[in-house]
Amino acid sequence: MRSIRTIVYTVLIAAVTAVFSLVAAAPAQAAPTFKAPFPCGQRWTYSHHSAEVRQALDFVRNDGGTTAGTPVLASASGTATRYSQPSGAGNYIVINHGGGWTTYYFHLSAYSVPSGAYVNQGQQIGVTGSTGNSSGAHIHYEQLFNGVGQVISINGASLAPYPGSYGSKAITSDNGCGGGGGKAFRTWGTGVLVRADARLSAPPVATLPGPTTVYVLCQKQGDTVNAEGYTNNWWAKLRDQGGFMTNIYIDDPAAVLPGVPVC
Ligand SMILES: [Zn+2]
Repeated sequence: MRSIRTIVYTVLIAAVTAVFSLVAAAPAQAAPTFKAPFPCGQRWTYSHHSAEVRQALDFVRNDGGTTAGTPVLASASGTATRYSQPSGAGNYIVINHGGGWTTYYFHLSAYSVPSGAYVNQGQQIGVTGSTGNSSGAHIHYEQLFNGVGQVISINGASLAPYPGSYGSKAITSDNGCGGGGGKAFRTWGTGVLVRADARLSAPPVATLPGPTTVYVLCQKQGDTVNAEGYTNNWWAKLRDQGGFMTNIYIDDPAAVLPGVPVC
């Protein structure tokens, strides 16, 4: 009797251990739901040529708009780092999404975020260009898991099989269309200016006529603002207005907004 019970316990422990091993061996994290690396509503065609690395795709615009100068957007949120490789990738950004996932954006004509910045999905990270080893403006785009290139997937749909030239396959972006990120706050005050940067001298890009709901993507320190008896040098970056407002007119008692990353 005792020996049978011991055997039962031993089998039970082995089974429990096996279940825990299976859990531990499972992938740490599923892939983020990546969105297209270009703005909402635009259609770009893509191709993969023979010299292409790491399952990359090259994208050019084919909805009548120009490719050069168009914003390059973060496919998913994460930490952006700037790189430069004049003989190859040109000016490029890598976003680390966590869980082993990174995305790469090559040949930028300009960077739009500082190195080390946390970026939200749909946030502009650069400008499409042709820097480095490139024969014309395009976005060279990669999705890597643990440093290995993966077949590119947008909104959960694989883009394989890859075409070998432009024009046969295209996708329309829903990146940055709204509903994508930011923390909602109420504002107060009237005629509150939203500026292009966190500086009093930056040009206004929008005005909030009265109290409204805004979606704050991130916040950063800029010019000190004195208003309504408050002093604050923190500014909130608004998703839908595309600029910064002083945190003074956000209806939250904290000078630095809770739960909002630093830009
Ligand atoms: Zn490429």
